[in-house]
Amino acid sequence: MSQQPERCVVVGGGPGGLLLAYLLARADVPVTLLEAHRDFDRRFRGDSLHPYTLELLDKLGLADELLELPHHAARTFRMHTPDGVITTADYTELATPYNYVALMPQQTFLDFLAKKATELPSMRLRLGARATALVEENGAVTGVRYQDANGEHALRAAVVIGADGRFSRVRRLAGLPEEPLGASSDLLWFRLPRRPSDPPEADVDLYFGRHNYVGLLGGPHDWQVGYTLPKGGYAAARQAGVGPIRDFVSAYVPWLADRMHLLTNFGQTTLLSVDISRVQRWHRPGLMLIGDAAHVISPVGGNGILMAVQDAVSAANRLIPALRHGRVEESVLAAVQADREPAIRAVQGHQVRVETRVANARRHGRPITPPWTVRMLTGMSAVRSRAARANAYGPQPPILDLRLLTSGPLEVARSSS
Ligand SMILES: Cc1cc2nc3c(=O)[nH]c(=O)nc-3n(C[C@H](O)[C@H](O)[C@H](O)COP(=O)(O)OP(=O)(O)OC[C@H]3O[C@@H](n4cnc5c(N)ncnc54)[C@H](O)[C@@H]3O)c2cc1C
Repeated sequence: MSQQPERCVVVGGGPGGLLLAYLLARADVPVTLLEAHRDFDRRFRGDSLHPYTLELLDKLGLADELLELPHHAARTFRMHTPDGVITTADYTELATPYNYVALMPQQTFLDFLAKKATELPSMRLRLGARATALVEENGAVTGVRYQDANGEHALRAAVVIGADGRFSRVRRLAGLPEEPLGASSDLLWFRLPRRPSDPPEADVDLYFGRHNYVGLLGGPHDWQVGYTLPKGGYAAARQAGVGPIRDFVSAYVPWLADRMHLLTNFGQTTLLSVDISRVQRWHRPGLMLIGDAAHVISPVGGNGILMAVQDAVSAANRLIPALRHGRVEESVLAAVQADREPAIRAVQGHQVRVETRVANARRHGRPITPPWTVRMLTGMSAVRSRAARANAYGPQPPILDLRLLTSGPLEVARSSS
């Protein structure tokens, strides 16, 4: 084990872990990020960068460069029901230059952030490095062991951050069990090409059939299509083949019918086992969980990345001052959870209500459609704007304390703000 402890080791290079590592490095706090994969290639992960995230990147001096990369600016969320189209959120009236959700392949975003992070002298990025065990002394976590192509290694750290996603190994190793909150659906994702003739107003759209619905996310070059299945329905769907999926999409999203023949087999799909869960305690002495590792978010509302990003901001606000002094008391880690937990509970509470409604509809053979109150309320433009604002920033959005960042392009951010 190395004798010089890192100030911080972050396990997991998803949006949460990578952003936190970047912010620590921007504050000149030595940080090592371990990412199990050799690259940031992510097929069928969240691709949504909300106005909150874009404004944050703007304050960091990164937004203009990032937004030169291919993305699609989604300005409305709509539901297509047998009784007509409902616009549930309208971003256009938000008082920000970033009045849209940037749908950008997650790999593009992570590659960009990793490049910016590794330009900072305090940042070490280890790709192909899988955390395998925690190092503990007297009940406190003091480091982490990891495996890479060269064998086994260990790193000492003042704090270890588990940002290793919904199947978090760090969470398991730390003995911080998650509590399932209930999910009734699974999702099959696949891609279809965009065509110039596609409806220009399509952005983020849900199309409801009687017992099923599909979600459409517009990317720069293609559409991500999420086809819902009842929880545990994958084996039956696979046995039935892609025919019923093609038929459903062609019937309810007719403008995609001309390319449904491109979906030929299940190998082109990715199963997302929808889950909503959270751990009760996000921390132990010397260790903290953030992002999906601490709370798995369902795709409803598309805010998994937003929540992970906001966890990273709260963690940076609290950790930077503590790490500068070399010690991170558990009370600091508890404060991060206290900052973030109300927002996570609010988001998950809404998701559980949606899941329960879908489960009840399926159980009683009723159509899965949005409640009449949604139709009634979203008829008012003020409600649509408020819904967009709630989704754009999430509940209780944390504000990054820019004074904590001392190095690198901060001057750029200050002079441009
Ligand atoms: C199919 C699908 C669609 C989704 N759609 C959306 C969407 O539209 N919008 C949205 O906002 N969210 C969406 N999400 C959710 C979103 O992707 C996650 O909420 C978000 O990525 C969580 O970020 P994170 O940083 O916490 O974890 P992750 O992004 O899961 O990153 C965890 C990282 O840890 C690494 N890792 C795991 N174990 C180890 C280990 N032992 N050692 C080292 N590294 C390790 C993994 O390789 C991974 O890179 C979707 C998720 C899925 C699966």
